[in-house]
Amino acid sequence: MPVKKITGASTEEELVQETVRELRRRSLPDAIIAAVVIRLKYPDKPTEPVQDSMVCPICRKGKLHFSIASSNGHIWARCTTDDCVRFMQ
Ligand SMILES: [Zn+2]
Repeated sequence: MPVKKITGASTEEELVQETVRELRRRSLPDAIIAAVVIRLKYPDKPTEPVQDSMVCPICRKGKLHFSIASSNGHIWARCTTDDCVRFMQ
C-alpha cells in the first residue's frame, strides 16, 4: 500500500532546491541563499554549537561546511569549491 503524503510537503532536498530557485529569482546573493538553507535545517538557535556539512546548495558540487554559534546563532560557512560561498553572519 503506497504511503500517503499527509502534508504534500516535499522532501528536504526538494525544499532546499525550491528555496534556492525562489531566492535566485529575487537576485539575492549566494551567501544569503546559503544562510537561508542552513536556517531551514536548523530553524532554532542551537543550545550547543553546531558543526555540520551538506552538499553545497549553491554550486551543488562542493561540500558546504558550516557551524552555528549557540551564543548568538551566528553562522559561519565555507564551501569546498574555490570561489563559492564563504561567509559569516
Ligand atoms: Zn559551493
